Parts: sequence; structure tokens; C-alpha cells
Amino acid sequence: MSRFFSEKFSRLTPYVPGEQPKDMKYVKLNTNESPFPPSEAVVAAATEAIRHGELYSDPECLAVRRALAERYGVSVDEVIVSNGSDEVLNFAFMAFCDDDHPAAFPDITYGFYSVFAEANRVPYRRIPLRDDFTVDPGDYMGIPETVFLANPNAPTGIALPLESIRAIVESNPDRVTVVDEAYVDFGGESAVSLIHDCPNLLVTGTFSKSRSLAGARLGFAFGQRDLIRDLDTLRNSTNPYNVNRMTIAAGAASLAEDERNRKNCAVIMENRDYAAGKLEEMGFVLTDSRANFLFASHPKLDGGELYRSLKRRGILVRHWDSERIRQYVRITVGSREQMNALLSVVQTVLEDET
Ligand code: PMP
Repeated sequence: MSRFFSEKFSRLTPYVPGEQPKDMKYVKLNTNESPFPPSEAVVAAATEAIRHGELYSDPECLAVRRALAERYGVSVDEVIVSNGSDEVLNFAFMAFCDDDHPAAFPDITYGFYSVFAEANRVPYRRIPLRDDFTVDPGDYMGIPETVFLANPNAPTGIALPLESIRAIVESNPDRVTVVDEAYVDFGGESAVSLIHDCPNLLVTGTFSKSRSLAGARLGFAFGQRDLIRDLDTLRNSTNPYNVNRMTIAAGAASLAEDERNRKNCAVIMENRDYAAGKLEEMGFVLTDSRANFLFASHPKLDGGELYRSLKRRGILVRHWDSERIRQYVRITVGSREQMNALLSVVQTVLEDET
């Protein structure tokens, strides 16, 4: 830290993204990316867009907002787009939380929430998941905080039904509830349909997982006009060109072929169920994941050891050395070949180390 770094950030512990090692070629199952590259149409749209790279991007991002509005049945002023959904989640902490409106989220959830809270100096409360890692909706009813819920949750993959989300949102009419649907396209139920009934609901999503565009950085949020306007005030006060030309074009092109994305999600869900079944046969305990990853532990293997053994053998998964989930690893669901590579290495580890 330099002596110039502001005191207000001096105790900030930044979010640690999944590792991207370059020392060898790994089967990369650690950051929940899609195994499918974007289509030729998406690549062509982004390529065409850079031809006008001397010009700023559209600060209103209309091409992709219109496409999102049409796809999700909302109006254009009920959607905002962002540089990955991380950016709009940060805007939500900035917009809807302060000393009088602290944040609340599960003790086991997306690790960035606590970082956004700390960076924005927002007090927060972590609400423990039940022993089986499910959210108890009752814990979030009528509470004084702004609620952040990933649904499906990460890294557990467990989803709450829409009716529970509705009950939570309706029980806190004076606070915003943010539902982070980064993984919803792999079997969750989206809450977008509730935004017209619920003025205090913000639903965020991303092109990073189900739409094969993690590297393009494109996120979005839906909510009633006033909520979106608040977020837009912050966007325009930080970076009005937050989404670049190539990404706007790629996002719009991707929405034009949403059927293809849906088919890719169906393949990933099949691969998830296939890999889950095989891991269970090997003695693993798994959560009921509705996301593009599995959350797995084995009674005879330490989670950290498993992570390191897999890495040594060329398979990268994610492990957190934190109390309740130390025994688990999170495995991104990729192609059938990647899943078979994982399963065969796991088998070897089990033979060698148990
Ligand atoms: N929410 C959750 C639950 C996530 O796991 C992620 C991915 N790390 C994000 C949001 C952010 O994704 P992105 O910024 O790529 O849209």
C-alpha cells in the first residue's frame, strides 16, 4: 500500500477471482464459464462493431437493452446494462444501502457481496444457511436490511422457488430485495415476472454463463423505472460508456439466437446430471444444484487435498478454505469430454488417496 492510498480503503480485502494459471493446460472447471464458444454470428457482430472503434459506444446501450426488453417482456426503461453483472451489483450496494439501510445476505454466497459492502462502507449481516445449505425464507421476512440473494445460490447451486422470493420481497416493502440470477438459465425460476407487481425488486443477470460471453463482460438488471433510474444515475456518475461497442453488438446478436443458448444450457444440464450421478456412485455428497456447477464433498477426502490433487493432474476446480464449506469443491459443468476427464481423474485420486 502506498502512503497515498485513502484511509477509507486501507482495510479493504479485495475479491479473489478464480485462478487463471498459465503453467500448463488445464481442464478449466473453476470459474463457471461456458464450454461453448460464442456463435459465428456473435463474433461477426462484434467484429463489425470495432470497425467504428474511433467512436464512443452508445451510452444508452439501446441495441442490447431493446433486445433484452423484448426477450424478457419488459420495457426498455426497466432494464440497465453493465460491465458484467458485478458492476450493476456494485451499483445496487451504492444505490440502496447505507448506514440506515444495511445489507443482509447468506453466510455462504457469492463472495463479492461482502466486498461490495466493505468498499461502499455499508454495514452488513450474514445470515447462516440451514445445515443442508438451503436458505430459510423466514430468515429474510420483515427484516430491516436490503437483501441480496443469489438464486440459484453460489457456490451451493441450490435454488429457492419463485413463491419464496415473492414472499421475501413482499414482506420487506420499504427495502429493496436484489435477486442475482447469474445462474438462473440452468434450471432456476426467474423473478423477472414479478417486477411489475413489486416496486422494491431488482433482478440481475449476466451473459457470462448461459450466453458464452464471460470475456465480453455484459450484465443487466430489471426493475421498475425508478429503481433503474437510480442505478443509471450512478452509472452516469462513474462511466457512461460502461459497455463497449463490441459487447453491445455481441449481446444483441446473442439474444437474436436465444434458442441456441437454450440448447447449450440443456446440454450443460444433462452433463451436470450425468456427472452428479457418477460422482454419487463414487461416494460423493452433492447439493441439488440448479446451476452450471456442482458442489461436492467426499467423506474420505479433505476438500483442499482434493482440489490440490486434481490440480496436479490437470483439472482445475474451486475450493474455499472457509469454515462451513472447507470439505467441498465447486466443479463447473463443462462438455461431456471435460466431465469424463474429471471423472476419470477423480477415480484415480480416490484409488490413490483413500
Ligand atoms: N453473481 C454470481 C452469483 C456469480 O457467481 C458471478 C460470477 N462470478 C456474478 C454474479 C458476476 O458475473 P459477471 O460479472 O461475469 O456477470
